Amino acid sequence: MNRAEPRPRTASWSETEAWERVVNLICEGSFPHCCAMVIPGDLQGEAAVATAKLLLCESRRGGDGCGSCASWTEQGHPDLLACGEPMKPPAIAECRGVIQAAAYRPVVSDGRVVVVYSADRMLLPAANSLLKLAEEPPDGVRLLLMVEDEELLLPTLRSRSWVISLPSHREDEGLTPPRTPHEWARWIEDNSASEVDSLAGILSSWASWEARRGDFERAAVLERLRLVIQAKRLSRTMALDLIVLVLKEGFVFEHSFGDLW
Ligand SMILES: [Zn+2]
Repeated sequence: MNRAEPRPRTASWSETEAWERVVNLICEGSFPHCCAMVIPGDLQGEAAVATAKLLLCESRRGGDGCGSCASWTEQGHPDLLACGEPMKPPAIAECRGVIQAAAYRPVVSDGRVVVVYSADRMLLPAANSLLKLAEEPPDGVRLLLMVEDEELLLPTLRSRSWVISLPSHREDEGLTPPRTPHEWARWIEDNSASEVDSLAGILSSWASWEARRGDFERAAVLERLRLVIQAKRLSRTMALDLIVLVLKEGFVFEHSFGDLW
């Protein structure tokens, strides 16, 4: 049997209508001052940079060799201020740093772009510190809040943002482990009545997916988990709870196995 190779998860967001709208708005000069972009954590870096490349370009088209486009290096751009990292939200000190920097005149472009990664996972003080910037950014400053789950973004920040979803359609959806709290909630709901054997089958397909993408450690965890729920004859509720505990909550598996069962 020939198994289809998983498609790379990249590229898909930039083929959506939502992205086309982003490009058009930037081109027309009507891109909002504060935008929350909904996109999986591992794609936030490339989406933020792609947006900043258009926003910072003199012609708003990006990659046209203008003075601003020529200033991009591997490290970024002098007028791109970023805080946090994809999958790692910024702390309040980092937020304060970019807020301060955003008040200065741009270096080469006619404006600046502030990117906040994992903005939906910030602690309350960090999120609060960005309210003023979101409400009244200095002239020429655009704020991009990168989020996986817009529902988790501080409501006062969300209400100040134009929210755009850049979904990443994946052909292998269903064969890959859920990643966002939303995906987990849906997965748990879908599987609340699944038998242990079918849960084991799911774990097995997740394990092969992780192995194919080179994460053998994760694949091994999934395989061990599958063996335990099958060998220990757990009830389906216990099996489901254990899967969520280990994979979603990050409970260390060796301990859960020794201590609980
Ligand atoms: Zn340019």
